[in-house]
Amino acid sequence: MTRIDELPLRDELRGKSPYGAPQLDVPVRLNTNENPYPLPEALVARIAERVAEAARDLNRYPDRDAVELRTALAAYLSRTGGHEVACANVWAANGSNEVLQQLLQTFGGPGRTAMGFEPSYSMHALISRGTGTGWLAGPRRDDFTIDVDAAVEAIAEHRPDVVFVCSPNNPTGTAVDAETVLRLYDAAQAAKPSMVVVDEAYGEFSHHPSLLPLLAGRPHLVVSRTMSKAFGAAGLRLGYLAADPAVVDAVQLVRLPYHLSSVTQATALAALEHTDTLLGYVERLKSERDRLVTELRAMGCEVTASDANFVQFGVFEDAHAAWQAILDRGVLVRDNGVPGRLRVTAGTPEENDAFLDAVRAVMKENR
Ligand code: PMP
Repeated sequence: MTRIDELPLRDELRGKSPYGAPQLDVPVRLNTNENPYPLPEALVARIAERVAEAARDLNRYPDRDAVELRTALAAYLSRTGGHEVACANVWAANGSNEVLQQLLQTFGGPGRTAMGFEPSYSMHALISRGTGTGWLAGPRRDDFTIDVDAAVEAIAEHRPDVVFVCSPNNPTGTAVDAETVLRLYDAAQAAKPSMVVVDEAYGEFSHHPSLLPLLAGRPHLVVSRTMSKAFGAAGLRLGYLAADPAVVDAVQLVRLPYHLSSVTQATALAALEHTDTLLGYVERLKSERDRLVTELRAMGCEVTASDANFVQFGVFEDAHAAWQAILDRGVLVRDNGVPGRLRVTAGTPEENDAFLDAVRAVMKENR
C-alpha cells in the first residue's frame, strides 16, 4: 500500500485533508445547506424529456459555449436580480466551485494572492491553494460583519489579485451591503487593480436585493451564483457567474473544452423552465429560516442574523460536544470550526421541529 505522502505531491498539498462534510446516514440531515424539497414531478418529467432529446445527440460534443443555457440564465438574472444581463455577461460551469476555480486559474495562480474575510466559505481558501494562489485571511468583527475600514486597510497592505466577498456569507448567514462592496472594490482597484468576486450562492434567500446591479461600469467585479441551493439542484452541479463580457472571454482561456455536458445543459434548462415553482419553495424556506432564528433565540441561544438558508447558533462551551449531542438525537448539523458555534440548514417544517427539539433537550441537559 502506497501512502499519499509517499507520492511526489506538490508541497502545498502535503499533510492536507480533502474538503467534505460527513455524509452520515441519520434521519435528519441539515448539514450541507441543501434544499430539502425534491424537484416537483412535473419538472422531473420535463428533465426526462429534455435529457432524452440530448441523448439522441450524445455522439456529438455538447455546445462548448452553452449559449442556450447562458441565455436562459441571463434572462433569470435580469428578471430577479434588478439588473439587465445578456448571454455575453454570463458563464456557466459544473457548480459554482468550478466557476470559482476557473476565476482563480484566470486571475490568481502562482505568484498571486487571493483574500477573503473569515470565517467564510472555506473553499475560497482551498481552491486558491489548489490553483497555486496564495491565501490571505482578512478580518471580520465579533458579530461576523465585515469591518470595512480594517478590510480596506488589509487590501491596501497586501494588494491581493482576487478579493472574495461572500454574501450572504457561509457559515454565518451575514449579508454584505452594497456600500461595503463598493468600498472594497474601490480599495482593490486602488491597490492593484484586482478582481472582486461576490459569491452569491445563497442570494435568493436574502432579505436584501442581489448585488448584481453593482456590475454596471465595474469590469473587475464578478457575481457568482449556483443552482445548488435556490433551485434545489445540488446534484445537478450547475454554477454560473455574471460579469463584464471581457471576464467571460477571459475564463474561456482556462476552461476545459466541452466542460458542461449536454445532459447537464439539458437538465439545467428544464429546471429554469420551472423557476417560479422552485422560487416558491425558497419562500417557504425563508420563513422556516426566520422561524429557526426566532425559536433558537427564545431558547436562549445566541443566533447570528441570517440571510441564507441556514442559521449559525451557539454559544456552546464545547461546540463539537454539542454537535455530537444533537447528532445522538438523530439530527446532523455542521461544525464549521467557528468557536462556540454550529450551523443548521433550514429543512422542512418537520425536520426543523426535530432539530429544535434536539437542541432544546441538549440545552436542558447542560443547564
Ligand atoms: N459558494 C458558497 C458560499 C457555498 O456555500 C457553496 C456550497 N456549499 C458554493 C459556493 C458551491 O456550491 P456549488 O459548487 O454546489 O455551486
